[in-house]
This record gives sequence, C-alpha cells and structure tokens, in this order.
Amino acid sequence: MKTVITNAEVEGRHVSVVIDDGHIVEISEDVEMLNADVVDADGGALIVGLHDHHVHLLAMAARREGIDLDPLQTPLAFDDALRLASANSETGWLRASGYDEHRHGVLDCRRLDALVGNRPLRVQHRSGLAWVLSTASLDLVLNGELPDGVELDPDGIPTGWLLRLDEWIADRIPPTAPSLREVGAELAAYGITGVTDATPNLGQGRLGLLRSAVSDRSLPQRLVLLGVDDPAAVADFARVGPAKIVIDEVTGLDPDALARIISAHHLKDRAVAIHAVSRAETVTAVTALALAGTYPGDRIEHGSVLPEDLDAILASGSVTVVVQPGLVGERGDHYLSSVDREDLPFLHRAASLQSAGIAVAIGSDAPVTSADPWATIATATTRQTRSGNVIGESERVDARTALGWYLTDPLDPGGSPRRVVCASAADLCLLDAPLDEVLAAPDAAHVRMTWVGGRLVHP
Ligand SMILES: [Zn+2]
Repeated sequence: MKTVITNAEVEGRHVSVVIDDGHIVEISEDVEMLNADVVDADGGALIVGLHDHHVHLLAMAARREGIDLDPLQTPLAFDDALRLASANSETGWLRASGYDEHRHGVLDCRRLDALVGNRPLRVQHRSGLAWVLSTASLDLVLNGELPDGVELDPDGIPTGWLLRLDEWIADRIPPTAPSLREVGAELAAYGITGVTDATPNLGQGRLGLLRSAVSDRSLPQRLVLLGVDDPAAVADFARVGPAKIVIDEVTGLDPDALARIISAHHLKDRAVAIHAVSRAETVTAVTALALAGTYPGDRIEHGSVLPEDLDAILASGSVTVVVQPGLVGERGDHYLSSVDREDLPFLHRAASLQSAGIAVAIGSDAPVTSADPWATIATATTRQTRSGNVIGESERVDARTALGWYLTDPLDPGGSPRRVVCASAADLCLLDAPLDEVLAAPDAAHVRMTWVGGRLVHP
C-alpha cells in the first residue's frame, strides 16, 4: 500500500509526497490518492529524517534501566536515590550513572557502603570514563587482581574508583541485556531515523544485542557502527563508518604512535574517527593526522577545546569535526568555573569552524548529553547554559544550520544535507508546522510523525 502525505511543506512548496516500497516515488501538487494511506500534513514541514552522528546506544539503554543521577542537584538527593533504589529491589547488582562530583559531592566506596550496605553497587561518572564501586562490588570484581586504573589510598587500599576500566569491568560483571526498545522509540519521537554508534571495540555480545534489536525492529533506526573492524560481520544489520580511536591525555599522548595507527587504517581504505576532547588531545590528534596524511571521511569526535591554529590542517584535509553544542547547555555552568581561562574562547566551537572552512557534523554523545536534537539546535543558536549564562556568543549558528548538521548522509556527516527527492529512501520526519515556525522555537513537541524506509515508526 502506498502512503501519500498531502499538503506538506517541502523546501517552501506545498506538495504531496508519495511513498511506495520504502521510497519516495512522486512529489507533486496533484497526485492520485486511490488505494493509498493518506496523511494530511496540514501545511506542516516534511523533512528528511535526522541522523545523530555520535551516540552510544547500549549505554543509553543501560542508563534507562539503572539509576539516573543526572537530574539530582545535591549530595542529599544523591544519597536518597541510592538508598531508595537499594531498598526497592532485593538482590543483584545496582547500577547508577551520571555521577557528578560538583553536584553530588566527594565519593568513595565507604560512602556507598553506608548507603547500600553489602549490596553490589557501581556508580558511573558522568564522563563515562570512571566507575566508583561499593566494597562488596570491589570484592566481586577485583577478586585478587589489581589492574592499572584501580585507585589506591596512601595505605594501598582501593578507594572504590576504577578509572578507564570499562571493558575490564564488563568482563567481570554478569551481563545484562538492556532493551533498546525505549531508546528506539525516544529517538523516533525526535524524528531521528538513523544513528552512528561511536562505541569503540564493540564485542560479539554487544553486537548481538544491536543485531537483535534491529531485526525485531525494537530499534527502527538505520545504524552505522564505528567500533567494528569487519563490515561483512555486521552487514545484515548495520553499515560501518570510520574506525574509532580513543586517545586520552591521562594515559599518555604520542602523536607518532597515533599517526602509525591512523596510517594502518588508511592503508586498509578506512577513515578514522578520533575521540579528542581537551586541548592536548585535539593538538595530538590533528598533529597525528598531519603526519599520517588525511583520508576522506576522517573525523574528530568532540573537539571540545580546539585551538584555531589547527584550523588550516583540518580544513585542507577535509577532516569533519563532530561537535556537541548540547554540552554548552548541560555542562556550561560547570565549564565557566572549571575550564582554563585561555581555553574558553575555543570551547565547543561551531560558527568559527564553519567560517574557517571546516566540515562540521553533530552528535549528541547520548547518554552523556540528551539525545534531543531540537533542544541541541536551540542551544546551538543561543549558547545558553542552564542558568542562562552565554558561552562563546560568536559561536552561535542559526537554527537552520544546526538542523542541517543532522540531515547529512550517515557516511558523509560533514557533507550537504540530504533532501526530500524522488527515488530517495523514505526516511522522513513530519513536523506540525512550517519549518520557519518550528526553527523559531525548536522543540521536539513539533515532531508529528517519523518514517524509516517508508514504515511509520512514530507515533
Ligand atoms: Zn562518545
């Protein structure tokens, strides 16, 4: 059965769009509507579905099933939430995420023990780079081992902090199989029809969860994966993007070694996506790209502090910077008190990257920040923090530009926005008002319907 979306605003024109067999087959002012499902768009804009170029799907799902600390504003609220969670479930591991030392106070295993007793509990730092474990869970996980990254007090006793040991911990904790159904539904309600999962080193277990979520349609979005080596191994449910490389100033930065890793990927005809956040990390990443030479599709993930003297290399090498303006809103107030003064002008750049000729794409890094693209577009236009401070006023972009970053091809994130045209896949987002009106006050509530490959996935 065909679907006809009538009275839709497409690039300023009022047209009907016909979908058949997963594709747009006709766009015109006058279409035959016999034997079709008809949707009256009522003048609302029909745009291509949004693509979030940097998310972590399984972490999004896990966060929904654990205790979400992010909304809690005080140490007292933090304590209450963990006490309550422990009292409300009888056995097994407790998991919390979104711990923020600035709002929730200093944390170690003793504070956790006082809240949950012998219950195994692990609390993830909001950065995703560290966990704090209760004593019972430390005993279970360490089991006599003491890998690098286990923080010790002056007496040599673990404090509860495990730094950058995510994969090591995952191997020692009974696997959970978080459902991606709610994540898929949330993304569809934002008009998102595709995501790039930027998790490095997706092992067989995690790939299996993603595969089954795609095949049983609980995750309706199209999927690009960065943390996979062999495209053939995932071809039944996902495409493979550039190779994710994580560099970390805490564990040491070596531009020459990084250049060798980059070159090895390029030799295999694969671009790279380098996670680089701090000034030292972005300088290392760009220096290494200059040493290795760039390859079409190379990306810098985050580039949170990106000094302008790197611009020429990024622009001439056609390296795409996958930015995260949402962080300005969600963490901006903290940045103002904690970021080095000299780094503030280069914090979460956007407009100045574009005017330097650098390709820009956008990713939420959810669950690190909200996956809501409309809230992110709003922040990109205002650069306002939660408490109303403005960070980098000159980095503001207009809402149409920010939306455009979500509309690019999944495998060409810095390219031109896709368009609603005949013969393209029917990955579409219908808004409840003309585009100019929606962009004047971006809000997810404007998303009325979402299709992926012609199949209605929202509502
Ligand atoms: Zn990430």
